[in-house]
Amino acid sequence: MLRLVHHRAYVWPVADGGAFPWNKYGLLMDALAERDAAIETHAPDPMPVRWLEAVHDPDYVAEVLEVRVPSAKARRIGFPVTERVAERARLVPGGTWLAARLALAHGFAANGAGGSHHALYNSGAGYCVFNDLAIAANRLIAEGDAARVLIVDCDVHQGDGTASLFAGRPDVATYSIHAEKNFPARKARSTADVELPDGTGDDPYLEALTRSLPPLVDSFRPDLILYQAGVDPHRDDKLGRLALSDDGLARRDCFVAAEALRIGAPLAATVGGGYGVDRMALARRHAATLLTLADAFAPVVAAQVGV
Ligand SMILES: [Zn+2]
Repeated sequence: MLRLVHHRAYVWPVADGGAFPWNKYGLLMDALAERDAAIETHAPDPMPVRWLEAVHDPDYVAEVLEVRVPSAKARRIGFPVTERVAERARLVPGGTWLAARLALAHGFAANGAGGSHHALYNSGAGYCVFNDLAIAANRLIAEGDAARVLIVDCDVHQGDGTASLFAGRPDVATYSIHAEKNFPARKARSTADVELPDGTGDDPYLEALTRSLPPLVDSFRPDLILYQAGVDPHRDDKLGRLALSDDGLARRDCFVAAEALRIGAPLAATVGGGYGVDRMALARRHAATLLTLADAFAPVVAAQVGV
């Protein structure tokens, strides 16, 4: 059973189009239905403004919520921040926070959007408005829901915003495994970064992941893992540069889930990146990731309810 946070506003498009695949968030629901997956959906509340301001520059938060983002920042984000985009930008962090709360109660849950890892202190970037991972992690710690949060970012692009927002924080660790030559050109410093050459396929990817993630899990000992589960390392991804197969992504997701299970930490996933003309293919990749993770945690849930 997949506990999934979803809101119809996740699918709202920008007024004048653009390259960002808004409709994949609706198609994700179709792809899950196509798989006949058992799903329990939960609707998020908008993230309270004070929690946005706890991570982002209050002036930038106001620019977004009052729909007056300067054009230079809108260009950096990659689409105009309209009324709908602004409302969505509060719902997505609310969804990641809710998914984490559900994970804390049940072992695993996912937000059907989010993973906005390029958003920085005073600006969005790379299709990210607010950094839902950082906002959720910060709130969970501040409210005592978690003491140590590890953010595992397997999107093909480096989680530069998350890394810079949490630089120097002892209670949050950031891990990013990404294509070295991909966006962003200037990388930030995560707690652990793994840079992969163009064209890296399943076996070398898994070798790098299985070598680098366990030491951080063991040394940091998180009591919650937030997973940016982007599917853009796939070989058919338009913005990828890596060459994972469907099976490679499944092995990646199984390994991340197994690491959480190994130390008894709950895991909340966000959708993350995935780009291409065939939006249904993207949605199916995201659906496969979420179901792989839910399946990995199924025995834990079964044990909790005594079956
Ligand atoms: Zn990406």
